[in-house]
Amino acid sequence: MDHDTFRSLGHQAIDWIADYWQHLADRPVAPLVEPGTVRAQLPTTPPEYGEDFPALLSDLERIVLPGLLHWQHPRFFGYFPANASGPAVLAELLSAGLGVQGMNWNTSPACTEVEQQMLDWFVHLLGLPEHFRGGGVIQDTASSAVLVALLTALHRASAGRTRDHGTGECGYRVYLTAETHSAARKAAVITGLGLRAVCEVATDADGAMDAADLAARIQADLAAGLTPLMVVATRGTTSDLSFDPLEDIGPVCRRHGVWLHVDAAYAGVAAVCDELHWVNDGVRYADSYCTNPHKWLLTNFDCDLLWVADPEALVNALSVLPAYLRNPASESGRVTDYRHWQVPLGRRFRALKLWSVLRWYGAEGLRSHIRTGVRHARLFADLVREDDRFTLLAPATLGLVTFRHAGSDTDNRNLLHAINAEGTTFLTHSEKNGTFFLRFATGGTHTEDHHVHEAWRAVQNAVQNAVPRAQH
Ligand code: PLP
Repeated sequence: MDHDTFRSLGHQAIDWIADYWQHLADRPVAPLVEPGTVRAQLPTTPPEYGEDFPALLSDLERIVLPGLLHWQHPRFFGYFPANASGPAVLAELLSAGLGVQGMNWNTSPACTEVEQQMLDWFVHLLGLPEHFRGGGVIQDTASSAVLVALLTALHRASAGRTRDHGTGECGYRVYLTAETHSAARKAAVITGLGLRAVCEVATDADGAMDAADLAARIQADLAAGLTPLMVVATRGTTSDLSFDPLEDIGPVCRRHGVWLHVDAAYAGVAAVCDELHWVNDGVRYADSYCTNPHKWLLTNFDCDLLWVADPEALVNALSVLPAYLRNPASESGRVTDYRHWQVPLGRRFRALKLWSVLRWYGAEGLRSHIRTGVRHARLFADLVREDDRFTLLAPATLGLVTFRHAGSDTDNRNLLHAINAEGTTFLTHSEKNGTFFLRFATGGTHTEDHHVHEAWRAVQNAVQNAVPRAQH
């Protein structure tokens, strides 16, 4: 593709995205395809000769769009949001155009240094402990963040032995709760510790980690000759936003030299607002902390921010030095080589989209986006409260409302199915103590008040079709 063709097709591609966003509200939110439908429309063999780019755009429209769940739809209220935004997408395109690899400082100094600056800006923006300055890095996901943290904790606890000998029969213990994201268990599997190393700590009625139970389990494990390695605490759990009490958990970890990883993947970014600073209460105890701008902060996937209190431990845990990557800058000790801070070698210039988002919206714009999401959750919760067929499971926290219809679990499952099949909106579910409930997560980039009202009407209409008349 020559440069002039790229220029003109690039305009078409941007037009296509702008049209897609502009008319998204007219589409059903969720796909109505059966398994295999999309694939059946693709040729069985790859093209032998090149085709025009517009042919791809037309197949995108015809084949792909009907097979997508539209995460950027203004009436998408499922899971947690996965915000995209104009400035983020444009910068993502620029990053792709630059096509740099930022694995070492010398493979693109600006890629490393812009990222360092963004992470330090976020220490300020989120009111994180000052000792995180200089200790930040962008990971692809919160799953990678907990994996990297666990590898570092292992390295620290074993004084480096796990690097050479692996984990073996080491008796390490990782503490979490039933509400902790599955990524922490997956990290235990990937590191070779296995699920047998995972110890599930009790929770209180709100689903938050019971620090006294944690302390008791650590004591019992020590008495049994095991080695408490890491506590994974969550500020804003995936299912229903419980907050593990870091002020109580932190001192327990300190007392026993246990690594404290704090997962604030969804909720952490809310701390851009002063009144929501509490989401990060107690983070000063953390050895590592992560949050995802790719959820609720207008930065398209992927972009997880990880900070470690002791970057040297991270680098020592993950650095391997092949001859072909040695260079004077690295050996000078004056630069950061981010390849030692992550699992892959190569790394994209993700900081560019973060920089673009910050410059376009400013801190004030980010606050306004978070506050809109919080307001929408309260608005929806008020609508639920006014309808006595429904119960709120908890007051709306941040951008999440958890609720259920008065009918049985089966009624609620049928209700969710009917809501999503109708297409106006999209919600997801979870379970607590074996009880099924619906989740309504706000925070979409393009969501306005009327979309919340429309979603609520869709929920009410679905009751007619999904729930036995006696329950209406
Ligand atoms: N941790 C929490 C609390 C989450 O809510 C999620 C996803 O929703 C994750 C971790 C996993 O996020 P990621 O896709 O960035 O790995």
